[in-house]
Formats: sequence, structure tokens, C-alpha cells
Amino acid sequence: MAGSGAAAAAPRDEPPEEPEGGGRRWGAQHAGARELAELYSPGKRLQEWISVILCFSLICFNFYNLLFYLRLEHTPSVIVGIFAGVVTADFLSGLFHWGADTWGSVELPIVGKAFIRPFREHHIDPTAITRHDFIETNGDNCFMTLVPLANMAYKFVSFSPEALYETCPWECYVFALIIFITMTNQIHKWSHTYFGLPRWVIFLQDWHIILPRKHHRIHHVSPHETYFCITTGTALGVVLCPPAAFLLPSASAALSRG
Ligand SMILES: [Zn+2]
Ligand SMILES: [Zn+2]
Repeated sequence: MAGSGAAAAAPRDEPPEEPEGGGRRWGAQHAGARELAELYSPGKRLQEWISVILCFSLICFNFYNLLFYLRLEHTPSVIVGIFAGVVTADFLSGLFHWGADTWGSVELPIVGKAFIRPFREHHIDPTAITRHDFIETNGDNCFMTLVPLANMAYKFVSFSPEALYETCPWECYVFALIIFITMTNQIHKWSHTYFGLPRWVIFLQDWHIILPRKHHRIHHVSPHETYFCITTGTALGVVLCPPAAFLLPSASAALSRG
């Protein structure tokens, strides 16, 4: 379900929603969008900076150690592990996105401002994500993956080399899962970006390795109740993981649309 090259030249995506009462229901000037954007506090910004720095430091440390313990005989199980990690990440992105879109409110302490606000803001100002810098885009996801990354790093410094050799394929699964969860919001941002994307990003989108633009556009049709998976958006995840079907009910239709 490749996105077409022509899509790159298409105008900036705007959700095909009908305005209510003659007014625009979305956009940066929407009162609700402005109010939600103002909830982005200096404290939140600091938390995001710390999360990003710690997260990418741990990713580098763990990646180096994974390569150190990888052996040729691990190849088949590592390939399966990486594939399973990506599919799991896509499913979890759909589950989390569905939860944030459906439950709670921005008034909830901590969780409301930190995790629900970006999703609600995104529906009424879908292009805001394209104006967020790297830190605001990726801070929350980096924060979420800190504990599993630290846990993996702890194993590398405390387990015996024999134990690390044995568990290497499993750790590759966990690492792929963590990488794709960490990058989900960046991938989501790229799916809303129609100008200036690097060729390699368009290539990955076209091959459904990351969320294609045409695919994600469907979620932005009100009432935003389908196509929640935003990591790869791949229908393959549904085939391999039937419980994901409720998150992506039109998987076969999406496949035929490409
Ligand atoms: Zn949504
Ligand atoms: Zn979106």
C-alpha cells in the first residue's frame, strides 16, 4: 500500500471535515487549539529535553552492546524478532492513541497535560505537529521508553556474557519495539508533512515501513474513530495480530487503496 510519488506534490493535508456553523473546526487559530497549545509549559519542555538526551544516550549504549553479542547463527531469530517488534509497536501505538482520543480529559492531573493534550490538540489543529521541533515532537515517547531502555542497559552491565548471548534475539525484539515506539511521533509528524521530506523518508512511507500519508489521512476524518495505528499503520499487523482488527477495521479496504 505504497503512497504515490504524486502525493509529495499534493497540497498540505487538511482533514476533509465539514465546517460547522460556517466556522472552521480546526486550525492554528481555533480557540481550542490556542488554549491547548498554551498548556505547553516550561516545566514540560525541560522534562522533554531530559527525556530525549537520556533516551538517545541509552539507545546508543544498548545498540553498541547488542551488536557486540550478535552472532551469525542468531540471524533468523533476529529477523523474526525485529519484525515482531515493529508490529507490536504499531499495535501499541494504536491502543495508546485510541485511549488518548477516547478517555479522560486535558484537565486530568499530569496525564491530561502531558499525554492527552497533544492528541486532542492534534484533531483540531492537525498541522501543528509539523511546527513542533524535534524535542516537542519526541519528548513524550522518549520519556515512555526510558525505563525499558534502562532495564536493558542494566542487563548489559550485570549479566554474564553467556546469558547475554542466549537472550540476544529476545533483546533485539525488545530493542526494535523500543525504537519504533520512540520514533512513533516523528513518524506521525512525517505523515503530515507534504513539503521538504527527505527522499529516504518518502521511500520508507511508500514501502509502509513507516506510516504513509494517505493512510493516516483517513484517521483525520471526523469522528476520528478508525486508523489509530500511527507507527507503520500496516494492515499486516492486523493479519498477524487479530486483536488489532478493532483498531483498524478497514484493513482490507486500506490494502486495496494502497
Ligand atoms: Zn487521533
Ligand atoms: Zn495525525
